[in-house]
Amino acid sequence: MQDLVAKLVRPEIRALKAYHVPEAEGLIKLDAMENPYPWPAEIQDEWLELLQGIAINRYPHPQAPAVQSALRAAMGIPAGMGLVLGNGSDELIQMLALTLGGIGRKVLSFDPGFVMYRMIGVFTGMDYVGVPLRPEGFDLDLPAVLDAMDREQPVLTFIAYPNNPTGNLFDPADIERVIEASPGLVVVDEAYAPFTDSSFLPRLGCWPNLLVMRTVSKMGLAGLRLGYLAGPAEWIAEIDKVRLPYNINALTQISATLALRHRALFDAQTAAIRAERARLFAALASLDGVQPYPSEANFILLRLTGGHADAVFAGLRARGVLVKNLQGAHPLLAECLRVTVGQPEENAAFLSALADQL
Ligand code: PMP
Repeated sequence: MQDLVAKLVRPEIRALKAYHVPEAEGLIKLDAMENPYPWPAEIQDEWLELLQGIAINRYPHPQAPAVQSALRAAMGIPAGMGLVLGNGSDELIQMLALTLGGIGRKVLSFDPGFVMYRMIGVFTGMDYVGVPLRPEGFDLDLPAVLDAMDREQPVLTFIAYPNNPTGNLFDPADIERVIEASPGLVVVDEAYAPFTDSSFLPRLGCWPNLLVMRTVSKMGLAGLRLGYLAGPAEWIAEIDKVRLPYNINALTQISATLALRHRALFDAQTAAIRAERARLFAALASLDGVQPYPSEANFILLRLTGGHADAVFAGLRARGVLVKNLQGAHPLLAECLRVTVGQPEENAAFLSALADQL
């Protein structure tokens, strides 16, 4: 059996580790950039009533038009741009790779960055080109990026804006240069859009090779699995061909449409998270031995300047707080942890557990 598996499974898949999600039962969960607030009470009853009315024996609408128009209205997608939905933006990354990828084709992004760009590149037979960010402040190293573009000729480039796991926004002027220099499609991934005022969405259409991808996960709907990709209709029509039928399920379609109609309720939650982010950053900066990095997202990257990230991560867990340990993930992330901004009392518990160990 093992021999047969070794013989038949593609070597690059054999070499991968499956995406690991740690057990969080009973812990304060600050590891996955979720919104810590539950569904707003004001719409709970209406939501449950709508869910009861779903004909679950039927397939959902294949294009989810109600979700599409709710997204267009709530998110300010420029008129005339195409839109395609995914089962999370992870699925959209996969659809992009299926559309443009293939053996010998290259996908480019920046390291440290979001791991799914590389993983999905590998799944679809592409070569991943990771251009290192600058060690100070994690900005784009523009000359190195332009060199890599020229040398590698990527068909697809992902720019996380803000970046995960570093939390910063790259200089928009650098991004413009990258879009202009790219021989391929550039996708600006705005997964953390609710937590920043900067966006390339209003600039869709300014370049023929720019798409913008977003998700409702971080605004408070991670359980629904809904991402969206906007840009010139010619691109979206091609990408839509690799979308699996009925990829947005009936429960998600009903729930997202309702949530987007009540976007102000979710905006209030994200505003609270932004305010709490500032308090958490200030508290971290005041601790000896901790260097937090400024963030435009709903998480903060921090370096333990005295080392021992592995031990501190384990100590936090033992005290009931789960964060993300990035030690070993990339050389620029040595002794780094990433903490999602939680509710005030969760952040207080995290800070006190952290202070205990410094
Ligand atoms: N892009 C970035 C930069 C992310 O950090 C994440 C989630 N960690 C995603 C995309 C995927 O989001 P989802 O699949 O939940 O829409």
